[in-house]
Amino acid sequence: MKKFGIVAKKDETSIQIEQIVKEKLTEKGWVYDKKNPQLVLCIGGDGTFLYAVHKYLDIIDNCSFLAIHTGTLGFFTDYTIDEVDECIFDVVNKDPIIRSVPLLKIVCENEAYYAVNEMRIENVVRTQLLDVKIDGVLFETFRGTGMCVSTQSGSTAYNRSLKGAVIEEGLNLLQLHEITGIHHQKYRSLGVPYIMDPHRKIEFFSDNFHDAILCYDQKHLLLDHAKKVEVSLSDKKVHFAKYRNINYLERLRDLY
Ligand code: NAP
Repeated sequence: MKKFGIVAKKDETSIQIEQIVKEKLTEKGWVYDKKNPQLVLCIGGDGTFLYAVHKYLDIIDNCSFLAIHTGTLGFFTDYTIDEVDECIFDVVNKDPIIRSVPLLKIVCENEAYYAVNEMRIENVVRTQLLDVKIDGVLFETFRGTGMCVSTQSGSTAYNRSLKGAVIEEGLNLLQLHEITGIHHQKYRSLGVPYIMDPHRKIEFFSDNFHDAILCYDQKHLLLDHAKKVEVSLSDKKVHFAKYRNINYLERLRDLY
């Protein structure tokens, strides 16, 4: 008996596809189990997939994800809206290859948070000062709006809007990038993306995080009382159920 769950975007098309997928998989003997699915089908876009990962974070080691995009191709989605029957056929008849990708772990005030794409410290109210330590070494003092740490998967998301580098699928790397840094005679920081070894630990210290926000994927929290935010790659992984191989170049080409 195989158990599945569905996370669909709340638009008409995605809700329709959700119904079709649910009916067809049930007909084929799969059991809908919202609480403990072995396979989570995400219907919508890359954003829907992120939402699904956060929803099932507590059982992330015991389930895998498969996504259908109701718009363009996407980076986490392997099927389009025209390929729903093919997707169901594959799920019912094939064994997937599991591709696992580590999540970012963010620790702040003794709480751990996880992200697929990136974490950002942002302060849009006033200049944020950040002492950036990497593996315990003071790397720089940053002044500006904030900092973004992205994973390989997140390199095409917010990081790309910051003009960070796109990192190809399969390369497990971390990317540190400034968000509107102030650079002049008095203040200077690296100013360009730093792509680093995935085992690095990055720490952001500040005496004043007032008005700053910690964003991680589509989630956020206020940093008002924090003194330090720590980021590294975690042991927790997202498992993708791969029934087909889509060339990364095709995904990238279809992005814009
Ligand atoms: P969202 O509406 O769920 O996503 C914003 C856009 O980012 C959507 O077009 C989404 O694609 C796309 N996206 C998400 N992950 C991606 C990835 N790994 N590669 C390429 N595109 C990706 O927004 P949200 O709920 O606020 O935040 C979720 C994520 O969106 C964040 O992790 C952040 O990276 C990204 N975001 C980007 C910007 C920006 O570039 N300025 C601003 C806000 C958020 P779909 O349409 O397929 O869902």
